[in-house]
Amino acid sequence: MDLLNTLVDKGLRRELPTREEALAVLATPDDELLDVVAAAGKVRRQWFGRRVKLNYLVNLKSGLCPEDCSYCSQRLGSKAEILKYTWLKPDEASKAAAAGVAGGAKRVCLVASGRGPTDRDVDRVSQTIEAIKEQNEGVEVCACLGLLSDGQADRLRSAGADAYNHNLNTSEGTYGEITTTHTYADRVETVHQAQAAGLSACSGLIAGMGESDADLVDVVFALRELDPDSVPVNFLIPFEGTPLAKEWNLTPQRCLRILAMVRFVCPDVEVRLAGGREVHLRSMQPLALHLVNSIFLGDYLTSEGQAGQTDLDMIADAGFEVEGAGTTTLPGHRVDAGGGCGSHVGGCAPCGDGPEAETAPAEPVLAEADGDRAARTDLVTVRRRGAGTDLAPNA
Ligand code: SF4
Repeated sequence: MDLLNTLVDKGLRRELPTREEALAVLATPDDELLDVVAAAGKVRRQWFGRRVKLNYLVNLKSGLCPEDCSYCSQRLGSKAEILKYTWLKPDEASKAAAAGVAGGAKRVCLVASGRGPTDRDVDRVSQTIEAIKEQNEGVEVCACLGLLSDGQADRLRSAGADAYNHNLNTSEGTYGEITTTHTYADRVETVHQAQAAGLSACSGLIAGMGESDADLVDVVFALRELDPDSVPVNFLIPFEGTPLAKEWNLTPQRCLRILAMVRFVCPDVEVRLAGGREVHLRSMQPLALHLVNSIFLGDYLTSEGQAGQTDLDMIADAGFEVEGAGTTTLPGHRVDAGGGCGSHVGGCAPCGDGPEAETAPAEPVLAEADGDRAARTDLVTVRRRGAGTDLAPNA
């Protein structure tokens, strides 16, 4: 318990834990899990109270990516049977965004598959941002378009974008095992470009790709160094048809320990529970609200989440409240320090980066996950509604 008392004290002072302390959180036994959640929960409440920020994903362009990110259903050579479509028109994207805003989302995250946008793509997205801002007063918009070229972040900012998402995903040491078509350094550079343009930076990770505890601590410490305003934590959904299809190695307990570690390392940053929560945390999702202060509402890029109303019920039942549009997400000291724009801080989803899903099999399929526990491959459902379809979005 000395460990947890120390971490709470540090979190309340915004002091960085040591690597050993972060590793020790990941190594805590299940018997102490509730103590870990309670400790990290104190830090969460200090900086964010009981507020939960809702974010809504709009996949502007799905699939057919030339990059080879192993975790991604949209990657080069992916056999996953996801929706594939080219750029949504501004009014189509705005309609999808409006559904999310009506469901309580404060931020809309515009995501497109691909290595990075052309200047023409930036024009297209700029028109989309303008349409969304015009039709949804007060909404925050985050763009997630991949690696940026010179001047593109400025243009997105001028078009009204509040934030830019680009995840580090995994540690520098393991990055080359996950992706070969771009580098970790490329990703860091894009986050820097977003920050330099005055966009609120959002950058996070994907856990469950076969990494070690040391790798997880490495990427979270690297994120703290990068100082984004929001950190999405994705849990890999191992898509059939991708190289990581068999990586079912997360349990709800492991996910909670990872989220607690991220909270201790990034105490006053928006920590967002992202892709994979329904599949890996399952009935433990409400406990995660004690650790994170932000989630995605409804569906993900290529997989379906639980019903939007179920998200809202979960938040209310667990004693939390949806953060209103008039509330500043980040604590005052971060806003005053210019570390983001405060009222429109946060971040986006997995930039196509999202660990996503595969068609649900009819029966639960048992797979090894952290010992003899069963992985719930049956919970994975490819998105067939919302953006890019004729069906209503889930929000
Ligand atoms: S994560 Fe982004 S860049 Fe990588 S394969 Fe998926 S869509 Fe392409």
